[in-house]
Amino acid sequence: MTPSKFSLTPRLTDDPLALAFDRLVPQGPMMDLFLPLEEVNLDWEDFLAGAEECGAYLNIPFCPTICDFCGFFKLPFSTALIKRYLLALVTDVRARGALLKKLGLRLKALYIGGGTPTILSEEELSLLLAVIDESLPMIEESEFTFEASLSTLTPRKIDILARGGVNRLSIGVQSFNPEVRGAVGRRSIEPFKEVKEAVLNFKGLTVIDLIHNLPGQSLEIFESDLKAATETGAKGLAVYLLKIPPQSNLAKKMGPQGSLKPLTLAQAAPYRRLANQILPALGWSRISAAHFAPPLGDRNVYNHLSASRRSIIPMGIGAGGYHRGRSWVITRDLDHYETSAKNDAPLTLFSPKATYFEFLDRISLDLSQGLLQTKDELETSSALFKILEPTIEPLVKAGLFNVEPNGYSLTEAGWFWSPNIEFLLRNAAAEGLQKTKN
Ligand code: SF4
Repeated sequence: MTPSKFSLTPRLTDDPLALAFDRLVPQGPMMDLFLPLEEVNLDWEDFLAGAEECGAYLNIPFCPTICDFCGFFKLPFSTALIKRYLLALVTDVRARGALLKKLGLRLKALYIGGGTPTILSEEELSLLLAVIDESLPMIEESEFTFEASLSTLTPRKIDILARGGVNRLSIGVQSFNPEVRGAVGRRSIEPFKEVKEAVLNFKGLTVIDLIHNLPGQSLEIFESDLKAATETGAKGLAVYLLKIPPQSNLAKKMGPQGSLKPLTLAQAAPYRRLANQILPALGWSRISAAHFAPPLGDRNVYNHLSASRRSIIPMGIGAGGYHRGRSWVITRDLDHYETSAKNDAPLTLFSPKATYFEFLDRISLDLSQGLLQTKDELETSSALFKILEPTIEPLVKAGLFNVEPNGYSLTEAGWFWSPNIEFLLRNAAAEGLQKTKN
């Protein structure tokens, strides 16, 4: 079911964090509408000209083992396939880099994710980083993130990443508890020691991903996970709710014939509350819906660009992009990708341009920073925000927004439900503006 096929009404309850809605919509561009590809005849040079605040995402869709909760697109793991893929990817990076340079665009943030990017061998990492360095124009002090898993990260690879310009290492830990990790297919015996060593070896900034509500992860274990994360020396922490994609192993285990009880959204609230209490008490502040950092820590530039709908240029099979009201996804077919990567990035999905995307993306930008600024000094956008008043009022009553002199700030419950709030406000803005026009 796509988000637009159901309605969301915030409920009045004593516990908005647990009960304000009965579902959470997927975050990010609403990719529920796509054009038939034969209708897509785009001049990428014209399309991307004038992009501001660009980021780029590069996909390495291979993993050595499969986590039970995985719903990401991947290719089967084989060294031969990785070599084949890397050759096509290098062609794609060079072609996209040439286009960016021609347009005078420079990247504010580059994110290499997957999959497990550190699955690449030392030689493959060196090759990829050298091609990125010579091809992709970056602004000074840009953020360059590389995702890593403990089972594939070595001191030598950390050194190659740092020398290749990577300044932000994102380690998917999920939980430090060996039993909890083992139960969802994660290896590594001493994750705390391994993360600490990685933080010490890496010259840049290290951030950690944790997941809550994993099978067997009690509140006590999650509390230890949070404290351990802050003691590793990492400078950023993302805290995500466990997602259970329908095609994942975990969905089968939580299905009618499965061995695990299904997870409800209300069960997430005690974990989220714990994170909201413990991290500030340890001196860490919230920097986005899911991210926290100590003073002078992570700035999370790529995720801010993505959450606030700035332009994202995708590279690599299955990677998704966004620019001025349009979303697109590169083909997931390796043969197709290999034959076309040097020309225009071959597509599998392309959306029509969202109407009124400037105002809609402004809403996303504000929400990504926790403050819907409906009144500014110049009063330029106050009239537009009037359209949203009937939607904002129930959100205030439901305990998801605080009223501020210049607008509405997200409460702790509002941060948790921010994908729903963004969805409601963007829809209300698009419908309201359409009516005004008619
Ligand atoms: S590391 Fe990430 S992409 Fe790979 S199997 Fe686990 S969840 Fe999926």
